[in-house]
Amino acid sequence: MIAGLLWRVGIGPLARALREQKHLAVCYHSIADSGQHDHIRVSIKDFTRHIEYLVSRGYRFVRFSELAGAQGRAAAIYFDDGFRNVFTNAKPILEQKNIPATLFITTDYAGGARDPAVYASWGEITALDSNWEIGSHSVSHRKLSKISKEEVRQEMTESKKIIEEKIGRAVMVFSYPHGRASRETEAIAREVGYTMTTADTRFHKVRPDPDDSLAVFYWKALKLW
Ligand SMILES: [Zn+2]
Repeated sequence: MIAGLLWRVGIGPLARALREQKHLAVCYHSIADSGQHDHIRVSIKDFTRHIEYLVSRGYRFVRFSELAGAQGRAAAIYFDDGFRNVFTNAKPILEQKNIPATLFITTDYAGGARDPAVYASWGEITALDSNWEIGSHSVSHRKLSKISKEEVRQEMTESKKIIEEKIGRAVMVFSYPHGRASRETEAIAREVGYTMTTADTRFHKVRPDPDDSLAVFYWKALKLW
């Protein structure tokens, strides 16, 4: 509410001019108007408005692995977990504007091993065109900060191998389950062949929450939240 007020009185444009230099990585999970996982669900309308805002601000959209090296003002839209509703609800909006995106797959969830009504199948994942980058979101979605180094290595290598075999493309990017990363996990990620992870500091991460007003999203995108 305070953010909304400040935005309306004009601090927003000033802050924008000052703070928009760094690239953005915008993290989503479920895109739907109802259903499960309410704590990580963003409505279709809000998602559309977020994209429209970034387009209006002149962001160029890139796949996650391209973010660090991108020129100008770049944004990477990404989705964790592999929800099926990303295919039905977010994909048409992105495709209409020819916007690339990245999908981070938890291999234990994909292919009907978890709830096939909720998570995308390997058939759907492999059918994505090259506008979609596929990354790993681990095998089991455990907090990598809570398990041994060897288990971290296994989560990272196994998921990479499984996804690469399924999609026939190299998997170069990793998204941390529950956002839990450390210097040690980052070192392992590099060792096993990832070029970028979501713990990278070369971009500003935006995490839209379900109850965020649009003003809050703008503030998060301006690195002020
Ligand atoms: Zn996740």
